[in-house]
Amino acid sequence: MKVTVLGAGITGVTTAYYLAKMGHQVEVVDKHKEVAMGTSFANGCQLSASNAEVWNSWRNIQKGIKWMLSKDAPLLINPTPTLHKYSWLVQFMLNIKNREQNTKQTCEMALEAHHLYKEIMRDEGITDSDIDKVDRGIMHIYRNQEELEHARLSNKLYTDSGLKRWEVSTSEMLDIEPALEQTSSTIIGGFYNDTDFTADIHKFCAKLAEILKTKYNVKFTQKYLDGNDPLLYRREGPVVICAGPGSRDLCFQLGLILPIYPVKGYSVTVNLKENGDKAPWTSILDDETKIVCSRLGNRLRVAGTAEFAGYDDRIREERVKPLVNWINTTFPGVDTNNAKSWAGLRPMTPNMMPIVRHGDRYNIWLNTGHGHLGWTLGAFTAKQVAEQIADHCN
Ligand SMILES: Cc1cc2nc3c(=O)[nH]c(=O)nc-3n(C[C@H](O)[C@H](O)[C@H](O)COP(=O)(O)OP(=O)(O)OC[C@H]3O[C@@H](n4cnc5c(N)ncnc54)[C@H](O)[C@@H]3O)c2cc1C
Repeated sequence: MKVTVLGAGITGVTTAYYLAKMGHQVEVVDKHKEVAMGTSFANGCQLSASNAEVWNSWRNIQKGIKWMLSKDAPLLINPTPTLHKYSWLVQFMLNIKNREQNTKQTCEMALEAHHLYKEIMRDEGITDSDIDKVDRGIMHIYRNQEELEHARLSNKLYTDSGLKRWEVSTSEMLDIEPALEQTSSTIIGGFYNDTDFTADIHKFCAKLAEILKTKYNVKFTQKYLDGNDPLLYRREGPVVICAGPGSRDLCFQLGLILPIYPVKGYSVTVNLKENGDKAPWTSILDDETKIVCSRLGNRLRVAGTAEFAGYDDRIREERVKPLVNWINTTFPGVDTNNAKSWAGLRPMTPNMMPIVRHGDRYNIWLNTGHGHLGWTLGAFTAKQVAEQIADHCN
């Protein structure tokens, strides 16, 4: 079957992979010439079942209201009213009741995806160094008692879903990650798991795309698609929309309303040069501020912050500053003078669950809306949509 995949980010290339492996003739279409130039370019790089907790809670709403008053807070909501933003926020609140169920399901999908990524790497000969993969687990750190108490409650959701994750004392944390010594006086405790891992999402997409071209004859075409493009209305072969934050606009023109809001985030990447021993190898998640930190060979990537400001991916220095400050205070031995900043839009649904299904229009399929966990969940939902298409066509 001839299948078109729209979007060459992590969801697009992994979808193309599973479809091509099933023997379909696959074409990937993207407005960029290179793959992974959208949100999959420079994210936090964590494959984190331990970050599966959905954000839908009254506790987070309270924090959000408090943060609205501060420009460098982890969350910033542009108060200008738009129907898109406010209807999304209402749906976000309506999904608070589904918090436990959605957290568990996300954690289970993430654990499955871990296996699938490792299978892809083994089957396609992708090495750890090809993608700067680091298998040292993820440590969640806490600097205040209330956050730590909350983490103790949430941990049950993780362990019930099959993730082995346990509380660690500050001295155990230092044994696991000695670079934390530089900030140990501010940390009161943490949680650790040794199965989550990190790798450069952009390098992975580029490597897999190369394999798709040479081994599976997948065609990559550079083209901007608008909702009137005849390709979308074709009935002969499925079209899978993996357009990340662009999926909503595209589907809107097809008469399909996807509840996706582009939640902006930032990353900074530091070239470690001679001070590499001061940077951690274990990936860190600072739970209160939701800042993540991953070691990518001789680089350190720190990412976070959430901004509700529409389809605007411009870099605002005052939003980058908290990330650089975080490095300066947590790992003061790391020189941040060469920090390179980036901004991307998370394709976020109000219940924080990806949309993986037939689009109820023409021959359109959807694999999108992965929010803050597209790298973590990508391989799982790609296989899922490829299997749904196969079942539908049989
Ligand atoms: C700061 C930040 C940190 C993050 N950290 C993590 C992390 O540590 N772990 C994790 O799991 N996730 C993380 N995420 C989330 C993750 O990066 C995203 O969920 C994921 O990259 C989304 O992938 P995607 O393929 O859906 O979208 P994209 O990567 O944006 O790909 C969509 C593609 O579609 C193309 N496209 C869109 N519209 C059109 C059109 N009309 N015509 C042609 N082409 C089009 C775009 O050019 C783009 O290449 C983070 C996100 C941000 C912003």
